[in-house]
Amino acid sequence: MSQLPNFTQSLTQLIACSSISSTQPSWDQGNIEVIQLLATWFEQLGFNINIQKVPGTTNKFNFLAKLGSGEGGLLLAGHSDTVPFDESRWQSDPMNVIDKDDKFYGLGTCDMKGFFAFILQACKGLSAKKLKKPLYILATADEETTMAGARFFAQSQAVKPDVAIIGEPTNLVPVVMHKGHMSHRISVQGQSGHSSKPNLGVNAIEIMYQVIGVLIDLKEKFNLNYKNEAFDVPAPTLNMGAIKGGDNANRICGHCDLDIDLRSLPGMSDDELLHWLSEALKPLAEKYPARISFEELHPSSPSFEQKKCSTDDECFVSIAEEISGHKCCAVNYATEAPFIQELGCQTIVLGPGSIDQAHQPNEFLAHSEIEKTDKLLIEMIQRYCLDAK
Ligand SMILES: [Zn+2]
Repeated sequence: MSQLPNFTQSLTQLIACSSISSTQPSWDQGNIEVIQLLATWFEQLGFNINIQKVPGTTNKFNFLAKLGSGEGGLLLAGHSDTVPFDESRWQSDPMNVIDKDDKFYGLGTCDMKGFFAFILQACKGLSAKKLKKPLYILATADEETTMAGARFFAQSQAVKPDVAIIGEPTNLVPVVMHKGHMSHRISVQGQSGHSSKPNLGVNAIEIMYQVIGVLIDLKEKFNLNYKNEAFDVPAPTLNMGAIKGGDNANRICGHCDLDIDLRSLPGMSDDELLHWLSEALKPLAEKYPARISFEELHPSSPSFEQKKCSTDDECFVSIAEEISGHKCCAVNYATEAPFIQELGCQTIVLGPGSIDQAHQPNEFLAHSEIEKTDKLLIEMIQRYCLDAK
């Protein structure tokens, strides 16, 4: 046990193992170093370790550790990757943890490799024999891009804990709801030609102009038809994020692409949102046959909601509120929670640090989080593993 690092040492080692996920191949890295580090530590604590390559990725792995036996129990989950960084805006080396002004600075300190350093401390001294129900630790791959690790883990249905905590930075406030996220490209195929003879071509920009008009009306329909007051923005949203078309002022534009982002409310399926979109665009699709098409830009992330249970004493949301001392809330960012929930466990997002520091230069984890997080994890392990009924 003496070889196990203390909190600062484990945090420093985790951050030093770069594990960046990016859709840009020049940035994208594997995560095996982080996984091996976790395996070394948790193996020493008596956990059974299972490392699985995530299909469809290059050198990315999920890590699952289990202590104790039987059904149910607690799953502590997080992602092992980070976003890329802008070195010129960092005041220190992002891979080297700096302890300054009561904060630990480093890439992934709060989002969210630091969570594993907390788990390690909470697990020291645990004995499998004393656990009435198992404790699982899950570290996933590729959360920051495709969520491939969590998708694969949900499909494999390897475990079925009673409850799961995803330790994303929520300031230790239980998060029980977030919106889903989809990105699509709408393409208009026109017919190029010389600008002097407009009748011989079909101008894709002019058709896209009409598509945009439909989308603006659709945003209003979302506002009129949906309302979930748990969110700052209570309706599903549609954002027109990028447009590209044509090449020259004297050519009829032959092709135009518009990339949009759609965010669904909990309880809405991707299909429901896409149905609104296709219905709205139907008249234009009929007016311009075979000229308007859709393409999904990357796999969608579902919305998430963990409802309170009817029987209060078994309700994880109520227990998390009690242990954390905060009322549950909804957030605007997407997480792996909907995938973890597919395991059949009550799931919440609850972790140290603030999302305001995530994906930012000079990301940090404040010292003030340490005591509160230690206490929270120990109480959760006590309740769902050591004292479990
Ligand atoms: Zn995160």
